[in-house]
Amino acid sequence: MAMKSIAKVVASPQPHWVGDGFLVHPLFADHAFQNDVSPFLMLDYAAPRAFKPSAKPPGVGVHPHKGFETVTIVYNGEVEHRDSAGNSGVIGPGDVQWMTAGRGILHEEFHSREAAKRGGVVSMAQLWVNLPRRDKGAAPGYQDIRDSAIPRIKFDGGELRVIAGAHGDVKGPAHTFTRMNVWDIRLDAGGRVTLPLHDGDPAILPVFSGRVAVNGERLVESSHVALFERAGGAIALEAKEASQLLLLSGEPIDEPIAAYGPFVMNTQVEIRQAMEEFRAGKMGVL
Ligand code: MN
Repeated sequence: MAMKSIAKVVASPQPHWVGDGFLVHPLFADHAFQNDVSPFLMLDYAAPRAFKPSAKPPGVGVHPHKGFETVTIVYNGEVEHRDSAGNSGVIGPGDVQWMTAGRGILHEEFHSREAAKRGGVVSMAQLWVNLPRRDKGAAPGYQDIRDSAIPRIKFDGGELRVIAGAHGDVKGPAHTFTRMNVWDIRLDAGGRVTLPLHDGDPAILPVFSGRVAVNGERLVESSHVALFERAGGAIALEAKEASQLLLLSGEPIDEPIAAYGPFVMNTQVEIRQAMEEFRAGKMGVL
């Protein structure tokens, strides 16, 4: 099987605060909202950080989204969510919240009240997944995916959690609008795995911590992302130290991307419409 070769390795820019709760590295850097990372749009990673006990949970208050999905993966601590479609929930380590903004939603994202009171370490990732033109008007949705519902594939020196997509016969629990793999991978030092992927799909390997040799040739360090050529059907990994990473791949949505703040549409006209809808209160009430 031909391997997918690395097209580029990008370093994360400096982290920035989202509200007062999440100091995030925008890992896709200049490739965010470009078709070379399709069907994904951007990825923020908040590395482990200790928070003091507080009666007022840190986080980000009510804001809108339209035209895509947000996928939040918690590694440490707890994240609490509430949205204008009437959904709410608290997710903890290993849990995933997959929110479809679709035609428009308002939500807020905080450390959970209980976890904020106790204080402690929080780390998480938020991935934005694009919707194709035909699904940008989909009804808002919320998938609360518990760690216990995510199948694990164990191998020599690590494990892979299939959040979305399929690894052989093992299928992930997330419903997606287009075909994609979102795999959460943990490797011990020396752990090795070969990942089977579709020939023709973009593939992206964000390394949150550790250091991984890819295809026996190139090292990808912590806070770096490897972007792969679409051709080729597999990627081989060997961890040089304990590592936490994601593998993202899928059928590309080769449509124009118009992105402005929390809205991701196909044209600037649609962006202006989204801003009007938000101002007119058409994305609901929270
Ligand atoms: Mn948000």
